[in-house]
Amino acid sequence: MALDSMTLDIVATMVAALLGAMLLHFGRQESTPALRWWGAAYVLGAVAIALWTLIGDLYGEVVSLFLSSIGLIATAMVWNAARVFHGKTPSVPGLVLGAIVWIASGMLLHPSAQSLRLTIGAALVVLYATLTAAELWQERRRTLHKRWPALLVPAMHGFVLMLPILLGNMLRDADGAFAAAWVTIFSIELVLYAVGTVFVIFMLVSERIVSAHKRAATTDPLTGLLNRRGFAESCAQLIAREARERRPVSVLIFDIDHFKSINDRFGHAEGDEVLKLFANVVVNNLRLTDISGRIGGEEFAALLPCSIDEAMVAAERVREAFAAAGVVCEDKPVDTTVSIGVAGGAAGTDLDVLLAAADTALYKAKRTGRNRVEASAELPLSLDRYRRQRAAAATAATPPAGQAVISG
Ligand code: GH3
Ligand code: MG
Ligand code: MG
Repeated sequence: MALDSMTLDIVATMVAALLGAMLLHFGRQESTPALRWWGAAYVLGAVAIALWTLIGDLYGEVVSLFLSSIGLIATAMVWNAARVFHGKTPSVPGLVLGAIVWIASGMLLHPSAQSLRLTIGAALVVLYATLTAAELWQERRRTLHKRWPALLVPAMHGFVLMLPILLGNMLRDADGAFAAAWVTIFSIELVLYAVGTVFVIFMLVSERIVSAHKRAATTDPLTGLLNRRGFAESCAQLIAREARERRPVSVLIFDIDHFKSINDRFGHAEGDEVLKLFANVVVNNLRLTDISGRIGGEEFAALLPCSIDEAMVAAERVREAFAAAGVVCEDKPVDTTVSIGVAGGAAGTDLDVLLAAADTALYKAKRTGRNRVEASAELPLSLDRYRRQRAAAATAATPPAGQAVISG
């Protein structure tokens, strides 16, 4: 079955234009500049192919050269989109260099050197496809199996483009059957490439959106530390890892002393600054392998892959650093101290058990004067009993809800 190259060109044009419009739309909706670059590249490419198909033959060499150089600029825009996607600035020289080389080769080379010119054109597209693939591949922390389409799609494109150059001498035949077949293969491949690239783009963009949402859901916006949920998730992983090595784990709970009075005297905004400062103190005085998070208003926690004795040393370091922070507000020194409860457990101890024990130790630190580190004597035998005790203590401390309404 012979495929009509005009029909194929029209299909390629329409597919590119549709995908371009779709990318532009999503680029605007998601405020993703890279998607807008990709979309504009597709629309420009579609316009170039459409004009080439319609008027390329009518106006001769110069128009043909001009339209094909627009196609090269569109190819370069796809590469720039990948750069923008990874936070780099678009490369303007890179955007036009291919087109300049192509136009120069068209104007300087003798018309009889047609195959050399085609080789240069194909090599330029292959170069841009390779740069795009390299750009998409570069992103760190990615698993290989998620990245393979990002490499395969441009590689397929480059391979098909280079096919006549690779096989040219072997297959060059008098009646040009190979050239005709290649044009057909190339047109089909162009459509597959356009669709395949968009598939890769959406895969990458959705992966990024999901990870951004996940980060937002597990991070405390004020301090940038993990929130309670993120802390619990990260701790579960660390505890499981340490359990495999049969190593102990320890938990620290920090509660800033008389924090309410800092808020009352200097205002909520200053209170927030103290919270940020404390988060920095924690991060700077713990190891990179430790996990820290903000688990409540002015309560923080950390999980350390070490014994309780080492954890006590770390806790003391945090306590001293915070007390020595030297916060001044409205020319008045602000006392910043923290009470810390520490608990340690054997390999694989549950996070909730450690937190409960550390919380009991923290309570003791508060009762015995604040600005202190206390170690838990033992882990709670029953978490349920611990929770019931906590609930009873909280009820005793708060007046029954609704009382004010009834009396008012
Ligand atoms: P203690 O030494 O017993 O811990 O006393 P405290 O005043 O620190 O304890 P309390 O639990 O009574 O007060 C905690 C205060 O923390 C009350 C609340 O208004 C404040 N707080 C909670 N979250 C935030 C926050 O995000 N920003 C600010 N500025 N204050 C907060
Ligand atoms: Mg508190
Ligand atoms: Mg407090």
